[in-house]
Amino acid sequence: MTIKANNPALSSWIDVEKNSDFPIQNLPFGIYSDNQVNHHACSAIGNYIIDLYELANCGFFSSLNLNKEIFNRSSLNDFIELGKTTTRALRDRLSVLLDGTNKELQDKKEIFNQIFKLQSSVKLLLPVRVGDYTDFYSSLDHATNIGTMIRDPKNALMPNWKYIPVGYHGRASSIMVSGTNFHRPKGQMKPADAEVPTFGPCKLLDFELETAYIIGKSTESGESISTEQADDYIFGMVLFNDWSARDIQTWEYVPLGPFLSKNFASTVSPWIVTLDALEPYRTEGYLQDPKVFPYLEYKGNKNVDIKLEVAIQPENKEETVVCRSNYKYMYWTMEQQLAHHTVNGCNVNVGDLMGSGTISGPDPSEYGSMMELSWKGTKPLKLNDGTERKFINDNDTVIMRGYCQNDKVRIGFGECKAKLLPAN
Ligand code: MN
Repeated sequence: MTIKANNPALSSWIDVEKNSDFPIQNLPFGIYSDNQVNHHACSAIGNYIIDLYELANCGFFSSLNLNKEIFNRSSLNDFIELGKTTTRALRDRLSVLLDGTNKELQDKKEIFNQIFKLQSSVKLLLPVRVGDYTDFYSSLDHATNIGTMIRDPKNALMPNWKYIPVGYHGRASSIMVSGTNFHRPKGQMKPADAEVPTFGPCKLLDFELETAYIIGKSTESGESISTEQADDYIFGMVLFNDWSARDIQTWEYVPLGPFLSKNFASTVSPWIVTLDALEPYRTEGYLQDPKVFPYLEYKGNKNVDIKLEVAIQPENKEETVVCRSNYKYMYWTMEQQLAHHTVNGCNVNVGDLMGSGTISGPDPSEYGSMMELSWKGTKPLKLNDGTERKFINDNDTVIMRGYCQNDKVRIGFGECKAKLLPAN
């Protein structure tokens, strides 16, 4: 299937800088508000957001037979629920309207300001209402690093790890959009040399460099999604920071896994980049040995080449990039994760969010958490302002970025950032 909006030959009549995350081949979806608008669905091109409600209102989507009110909601759930045939047609139509050779919208100078607004002048909101959130643990290098540090270098991976895309159910209520700051969590922790636990602000606050995919089609309880069907159920991807309190985690995680160490805040980027837009950047997956169960087998290139980076910005100082990784390092693909998630009949809903797990690469500069970068706090990182970090300090802002680039087109995710405020 050719996705028309992905055509690398297209260029827009809207000016798009060379390194922009939002060329005409991206056209992601989000929700924004400003002084005039409570919440409208939008897309992005260059430095602008595109108000989809206003475009519908002006009749530009009349061929698609959509109720314009679908773009006047506080989340994209109802729009996504229309299904990929419709959302793909909408993205294609948008692409036509923005194409330099098309005059329909280009010539309507009088409505430009009603439809296009500078992205820097609006507030981007959480794009979906997340009903359920699952986090996986699918990067081989990350799982190996963590297992080496906290268990045994000789048996770093648990025996189940290459058989099961390991995951846990996270908490949806504290998923926040980029730009939402939060306070350092408090809780119980027990330092290795202490006999009894203590209570107070967490000392080892960490980020986890992740992506997440958004479910685009619901299933009934009892249904399973095969790896072959999975892409039809995945609407798109976002950047995701699964903030983690390592000292709380170490004390609480046996036997049922992380609880208060991760449920206080998770940050998502505001733009959902569609799986359609990511198709040109698909790449080969890991050779999986031992062989996986038949329900986890898949055909074709199912990893995605997404270049990822994390920067730490101390208050009023310049940022320092502390990690450069890539989504292609995932051992388990999204399709395998979803097949596994539903193989027991667990139903999924539109808007559910599935975290990748921390994405680390083989090189130490590619580790996706401070836990790994500072090797449990034994190797502090030097920042550009001269200070050092083992974990995240109060008033530090952590910024994640991601983009795909081939020889023709670069598309990106924008930023996923949040500032850690001192404990309450
Ligand atoms: Mn995680």
